Amino acid sequence: MHIVCPQCMSVNRVAEERLKHHPKCGKCHGSLLTSSPVELNEANFSTFTGRNELPVVVDFWAEWCGPCKAMAPVFAELTSELSTRVRFAKVDTEAFPALAQRFGIRSIPSLLLFKAGQEVDRIAGAMNAATLRAWLLQH
Ligand SMILES: [Zn+2]
Repeated sequence: MHIVCPQCMSVNRVAEERLKHHPKCGKCHGSLLTSSPVELNEANFSTFTGRNELPVVVDFWAEWCGPCKAMAPVFAELTSELSTRVRFAKVDTEAFPALAQRFGIRSIPSLLLFKAGQEVDRIAGAMNAATLRAWLLQH
């Protein structure tokens, strides 16, 4: 399957059964599956959400948002736990308002789930790990 490198954004081809063996990027040799969310911007958003063959969940957040900060550890925990099943990314809506606008983000945190570049679901508001895990794995 195709996996986008979180460092250099190269599209790597990785056998599905290799995902759990810490695959590395063929170009930059960094880890393909990181244990922290990938920071997206206007330049890499389409590649990361569109070319990964795992679902990609994107957390739209902002520095001033209390519930976003409260949820960050939950998001980080699941990034590590589900690294071979879901790719985790985030968008700073203050730094990249055009991305927030493109997806009609009205409240944060908002989590959008993408498959092959298409938004398939979204959920808003802070939540605990059990709720977020259940939402991610039902897709
Ligand atoms: Zn790379």
